[in-house]
Amino acid sequence: MIVAHRKTIPELIEILTGHNKVLVLGCGTCVTVCLAGGQREVGIIASALRMASKLRGHALEVEELTIERQCDNVFIETAAEAIERNDAVLSLGCGAGVQAIAERYSHKPVYAGLDTTFIGILEERGIWAEKCSACGACVLHNYGGICPITQCAKRLLNGPCGGSREDRCEVRPDRPCAWQLIYQRLKEIDQLDRLRQIQPPKNWEPSLDGGPRVIVREDHRV
Ligand code: SF4
Ligand code: SF4
Repeated sequence: MIVAHRKTIPELIEILTGHNKVLVLGCGTCVTVCLAGGQREVGIIASALRMASKLRGHALEVEELTIERQCDNVFIETAAEAIERNDAVLSLGCGAGVQAIAERYSHKPVYAGLDTTFIGILEERGIWAEKCSACGACVLHNYGGICPITQCAKRLLNGPCGGSREDRCEVRPDRPCAWQLIYQRLKEIDQLDRLRQIQPPKNWEPSLDGGPRVIVREDHRV
């Protein structure tokens, strides 16, 4: 899932300066699961904005709504009336959701209420960890299902740097060395001989460096 976290209330108050009526719009998918922008957070942020703006002498009128998905026009439609009756939208969707709303309602200011951070998973209660950098050409099959691009601080594709200490990464001692994990996993699945194969330089063309990416599926076009 896409993992994001909330901007602070002072940041949001600053972003919303000049508006009187604001729709705080939540998203029921990834950001609900990572406890950043679902219905519950919409309620918390809306209340905080009402109080903070009142204390600053310019009370905001704040409406609350959460839709199923902000990155899908079918669901964006369900917010149309609420969007129209407010001066601005504070989207608690991920960056894609914010932009989908802004594209659809180009006459309306739409602001990001979250900082979208990475594609990851819930590692343990209260801890989300990045797992994929969306490089566009997945090589997980070579590494026992552990991504060296995302989990190795140096993005090494042909073995460890040699700096790890007691299975910890030398750059990020709070995280395990990715290559320690890769070795253990390949050993468990009896594929250690994959480590004898030198991986050629990765083709980074499909990654973000070439500008925004688009996938076209001719079989789904009308
Ligand atoms: S190899 Fe690329 S697509 Fe696969 S998990 Fe890593 S970053 Fe994501
Ligand atoms: S210690 Fe391990 S994870 Fe950290 S940079 Fe070196 S090889 Fe990568």
